[in-house]
Amino acid sequence: MVQTDCIFCRIIAGKLPAMMVHQDDLCVAFRDINPQAPVHLLVVPREHFASLDEATPERRELLGHLLLTAARVANAEGLTEKGGGYRTVINTGAGVGQSVFHLHVHVLGGRPMGWPPG
Ligand code: AMP
Repeated sequence: MVQTDCIFCRIIAGKLPAMMVHQDDLCVAFRDINPQAPVHLLVVPREHFASLDEATPERRELLGHLLLTAARVANAEGLTEKGGGYRTVINTGAGVGQSVFHLHVHVLGGRPMGWPPG
């Protein structure tokens, strides 16, 4: 269900602008407003749920679709394994940096990255 107080629901509903790079029946992808790398995209399910902790077995297909879409939008930006690769991140919980409580997959690339993440 659409949550009127959710920033990503408002983007999906077209009530807030975003730089969309992908849209389909199940999800959208747009550029992060505060990019942490030359390419920083967010893949967001149309269905509102807060985090990976709400990823029930009924959402198995959707969750797989989000990862396939992450690879597709990364590749479309030139981020392939040979092209420097990319990192996908799902923050779950405020303690590890989640700030928007509508599940999303970060897709970051275009610069070298260290490990472990901070
Ligand atoms: P997280 O901290 O993992 O919950 O990630 C939320 C991300 O959403 C952050 O990287 C923000 O920069 C990004 N963000 C917040 N508001 C917007 C917006 N209106 N358009 C695009 N990205 C946003």
